[in-house]
Amino acid sequence: MTTLRLILGDQLSPGISSLADANKDTDVILMAEVVDECTYVKHHKKKIALVLSAMRHFANDLRSDGFDVAYVQLDDADNTGSLKGETKRAIQHHTADTVVVTQPGEYRLAQDIKTWADDLNVKVEQREDDRFLASLDTFNTWAQGRKELRMEYFYREMRRSTGLLMTDEGKPEGGQWNFDKDNRSSIDPGLDFPGPSQFTPDDITQGVLALVEEQFGDHFGTLEPFTFAVTREQAEHAFGRFIIHALPQFGTYQDAMTDRDPFLFHSVISAYLNLGLLDAYAVCAAAQNAYHAGDAPLNAVEGFIRQIIGWREYVRGLYWHQMPRYKTRNQLQAQRPLPDFYWTGDTKMTCMAHAIGQTRDHAYAHHIQRLMVTGNFALLAGLAPDDVNDWYMRVYADAYEWVELPNTHGMALWADGGIVGSKPYAASGKYINRMSDHCKDCAYDVNEQTGDTACPFNALYWDFLDRHKTQFAKNSRMGLMLKSLDRMADDKRRATRTRAKNLLDNLDAL
Ligand code: FAD
Ligand code: SF4
Repeated sequence: MTTLRLILGDQLSPGISSLADANKDTDVILMAEVVDECTYVKHHKKKIALVLSAMRHFANDLRSDGFDVAYVQLDDADNTGSLKGETKRAIQHHTADTVVVTQPGEYRLAQDIKTWADDLNVKVEQREDDRFLASLDTFNTWAQGRKELRMEYFYREMRRSTGLLMTDEGKPEGGQWNFDKDNRSSIDPGLDFPGPSQFTPDDITQGVLALVEEQFGDHFGTLEPFTFAVTREQAEHAFGRFIIHALPQFGTYQDAMTDRDPFLFHSVISAYLNLGLLDAYAVCAAAQNAYHAGDAPLNAVEGFIRQIIGWREYVRGLYWHQMPRYKTRNQLQAQRPLPDFYWTGDTKMTCMAHAIGQTRDHAYAHHIQRLMVTGNFALLAGLAPDDVNDWYMRVYADAYEWVELPNTHGMALWADGGIVGSKPYAASGKYINRMSDHCKDCAYDVNEQTGDTACPFNALYWDFLDRHKTQFAKNSRMGLMLKSLDRMADDKRRATRTRAKNLLDNLDAL
């Protein structure tokens, strides 16, 4: 009898737990491209191409290492279109009695796999995904008994347990856990941006691009030019370029936005990390080395490491801790459908047009664009969380529910009622103007709150506070904002309400 080792599309790491004790003489590795995984949400064309091409390259690497790989392509005649169907076919073909798989990143698939043992009459072993630095048990233990599950405290535990940026005395490097206050500069007009590494598609990628255009031509996004890394070697090269050319400025301009460049000094590695082409600890250790070598300042390196051992690990633990109920919460009772411009980018709001346009072209927007532009607008306009989550899942190359959901549902929309964020990340156009150069060329006036050409973020912001003031009254972190609302003159408040109503009734015209 044979053991089947199933490798999912985002498990492209040679050290993955499902391969730990694989026997090259007797075991079969199954990798399957299935239409269900490309369409359960209609992912960005670039994301599908990235995953399929990286899978094909990884399968070749495994074969070169001596493994017997059964690889099913999307257009194979007998492809059943589902992971369960392909596993069933492989069990029959290879007379397998055991399936070993590393726990999937998404709850829906983990639940599905739980049915396989009975339905397919095999032993199914789901193993922990130990590519994360905190196991789910570690997160659950940390969370147990806490009133609030704040990332900052989890992050400190992670610093202690990994030893990253810790002194020999067990203190945080530089005497502080967090250098965020140094990381809020806007863009200096003279700055040049290094841009991420770009790779020319090889024959394998060319084949995938043709397949994706043929089968998923109606999905969001432009497919070409396609310049993503599709192998571990390429991803490491891309990350190396970041360390040298962007990390030194990463911290200072982490929150900035500009018309001039989609990537600024960001690493653009989330899609590679999430696929398994890069290793979370290794990238943090490399950033730490750059600090010790004097090649990057502490505010940049701490900021980068916090995103990974802090935010990335935290949202993953939180997702599994809170699912499935988490996804159904809608604390602010937001119900409005997503306006069309989220798909077309056709809006007079320059900040939104930029964030959506680069998302369409690159399957990428950086964190502040996702949180404070598209996310902030969705929050202020009361867009329905299911629609917004669906959008974020459909449009980014790095989108996987374990990381998308806590970020969108929790951080951006506050639909979880404050599990991720102690207060909503609501902001008026003033914030966007401070952190970007978008407002200068916008059809709307960022300094106006009412009137037909006033920045929509302004009236929507005050109206959002007004609509939810009772709910936020006991939140001490909202006190200043609510006081400002209270101080607003009655006629201005009335005009703001009228402007907000007009905007909300005509979202598609913005
Ligand atoms: P950098 O800014 O260079 O940061 C370095 C790395 O830190 C990232 O590659 C990423 O792995 C990690 N990181 C940074 N912030 C976060 C975060 N908040 N949560 C988890 N990891 C983080 N990230 C995804 O990987 N997939 C998603 O589907 C996703 N959806 C998001 C939705 C919303 C509404 C928001 C606000 C954020 C979302 N993020 C998501 C987090 C973050 O925006 C992206 O990880 C980041 O923009 C990726 O770009 P980068 O690689 O250049 O990151
Ligand atoms: Fe965005 Fe308002 Fe600035 Fe226009 S004026 S770019 S809508 S924040």
